[in-house]
Amino acid sequence: MENDAKKQYRKIIHIDMDAFYASVEQRDHPEYRGKALVVGGLPEGRGGVVATASYEARKFGVRSAMPSKKALQLCPHAIFIRPRFAAYKEVSQKIREIFSRYTDLIEPLSLDEAYLDVTEDKLGVGSAIEIAKQIKQAIKDELQLTASAGVSVNKFVAKIASDINKPDGLTFIGPSQIESFMEKLPVEKFHGVGKVTADKMKRMGLHTGADLKQLSEEEMTAAFGKPGRFYYQIVRGIDDRPVQPHRETKSMGAEDTFAYDLTTLDEMHAELDKIAATVVTRLEKYNLKGRTITLKIKYHDFRQITRNQSFAIPVGDMDTITATAKQLLLATQPENMRIRLLGISLSNFGDLPVKTKQDEPSEQLRLDL
Ligand SMILES: [Mg+2]
Repeated sequence: MENDAKKQYRKIIHIDMDAFYASVEQRDHPEYRGKALVVGGLPEGRGGVVATASYEARKFGVRSAMPSKKALQLCPHAIFIRPRFAAYKEVSQKIREIFSRYTDLIEPLSLDEAYLDVTEDKLGVGSAIEIAKQIKQAIKDELQLTASAGVSVNKFVAKIASDINKPDGLTFIGPSQIESFMEKLPVEKFHGVGKVTADKMKRMGLHTGADLKQLSEEEMTAAFGKPGRFYYQIVRGIDDRPVQPHRETKSMGAEDTFAYDLTTLDEMHAELDKIAATVVTRLEKYNLKGRTITLKIKYHDFRQITRNQSFAIPVGDMDTITATAKQLLLATQPENMRIRLLGISLSNFGDLPVKTKQDEPSEQLRLDL
């Protein structure tokens, strides 16, 4: 039964603000409205790049991460301004507050983008499409900005969906449409496939999802390394990555200081079971799994040690955590050691390796103001 319940489709929304920095500037400065506006490095500076261009500037081919000099050539009448990150951050916090009315499972990707898991929503709305509508409306009413939303059963498809009807779009891709949708998708549209990888795929004659589907998992991994496995799954509509609200969280765990020092293995094991249960509850609450389990031991004389073990894949289940903690404990020869505190924590959270370094340098890195 439990397995059946787990197979229920998730409800994932990806929200992406439209031309975020430029839209905030146009909102705050009426004189920029309706104009070609470029936020980023100034064209007269060295190495300045476009952070965000207004839709009026995009019509002329101006794009994010493009050198500002080139943007000026494409759109000589554009207004160039420097970004005001403090202002964007403030708006970003307000957007997150709107999200949090519906769910705590929010995974921000940047100031203007986030995944939401609304499989269970706080207001009991039920429909992910309806929630996406309400969020878009709240952003419009309260912040005078527009967002685009993608709704699906996993992160990958939701993210691609949000990009389909920009600006001010809302696109739903249901489970039955996913495979045919993925087959038609050009490889460069695959999130995680940067220009370098896309070019390589094209040289191999792989242009769409349907082409990628012809390759076996082994062939994919041989050609693209670790991310190859991810592409193999994603082209089949499989993406089990959870929405991780605490991606920036370094570790999560629990510990207990005892009323009296523990000296027998039985006592220590019993305490580890209790602590592990707390850890598992916390991990489940935030939908987290970690690759490293750390055991902390404090002795009666306040001497403290930690021991850890790492795994190839993220873990978060009770059995693995207790077994590992006990094994780590045993290796310290704990009997008769007078232990006053035990703690277990998980760390090394993270996602599948969908990006390689040379792919898609982040906006921040490329800004170079
Ligand atoms: Mg955006």
